[in-house]
Amino acid sequence: MTTPPPNPPAREEDVAAAEATLGRRLPPWLRDRLLAENGWLIDDLRGPTNEEWQFLPVLDRRDRKAMTRTAEGIAWYTRRLADAADFGALPDGAAMVAFGRARYSHRLLLLPDPDDPAAFDDRLFRQVHTGEPTPVDRAALGRPAPPVDPAQLRPRSEIPTFRYHPDPVGTGSFVQRADRTCPACGLATGWSYVTSPYGPGRHPDLCPWCIADGSAAQKLSASFIDVYWLEGQDPPAPLDRLAELAHRTPGFASWQQEEWQYCCGDACAFHGVATADALGSLAEEERPAWLDDAFLAALRDVEADGEEPADPVPFAFRCLHCGRLRVWLDVS
Ligand SMILES: [Zn+2]
Ligand SMILES: [Zn+2]
Repeated sequence: MTTPPPNPPAREEDVAAAEATLGRRLPPWLRDRLLAENGWLIDDLRGPTNEEWQFLPVLDRRDRKAMTRTAEGIAWYTRRLADAADFGALPDGAAMVAFGRARYSHRLLLLPDPDDPAAFDDRLFRQVHTGEPTPVDRAALGRPAPPVDPAQLRPRSEIPTFRYHPDPVGTGSFVQRADRTCPACGLATGWSYVTSPYGPGRHPDLCPWCIADGSAAQKLSASFIDVYWLEGQDPPAPLDRLAELAHRTPGFASWQQEEWQYCCGDACAFHGVATADALGSLAEEERPAWLDDAFLAALRDVEADGEEPADPVPFAFRCLHCGRLRVWLDVS
């Protein structure tokens, strides 16, 4: 990746004008940075947020060209976000100062200083879509990850056994990443959970061990699988099994909230993307409405290209008691 040349610095009067528009003083760290470079990129892909952040400029009124280049800046985004009825999530008095380059609905915010109505709080907050803003360790943003101790890396054969997810490497829920540390235990085990659990904040790269022993769920007040759908089944699965599924079983990346399948009074085991052969083996009366010949033919075409379906995605589950195949279709 080539690094673009740095933007010219902002002028003091332009920073002051942005503060007047926002109604609050920017924190000193942000002022200083703007006066050095008006808008910049922070690659934190290997840092605590796992994202690349585009920090916004203040409007530079020097000349028309500068104005055009900096028009979509802090004040512009803040107003646009505050006005957007479908967002409705910008806290009162907040300002947007950066967006996620890969995920536009991820942003960094300043919040008003609770002790000084004329200033923003010194801290930086991250907001995902309409979620609650959570503080970000600003000093750690963009700092390279500490070198990994190879002695901590563990072989695949040591990954714990999960009753409801027997092959989490095969299904793609754990990937081999030697450069990541687990946010729960701080170790680089070589294995990362591909998605973030349900709960406050975003916590990628959890290790299989912290998921298996429940420590990740406890430390992060998080769960991995939504068992709401299972709780409504008759007879309901035993509570200790539902707790094992929610707090000690890795889920999987999907478009929709997953509907973990149920059979024989228990949750089923997850087996990843269903193949056309597996789906074709279902008896006529067991086929969901979406599973018709056209669907199977399209899936066979994807498989013939050596690929996996991207959207919609049929997922396979198997009953731990009667062995029956259960399927769920995930659609974006
Ligand atoms: Zn861990
Ligand atoms: Zn069954």
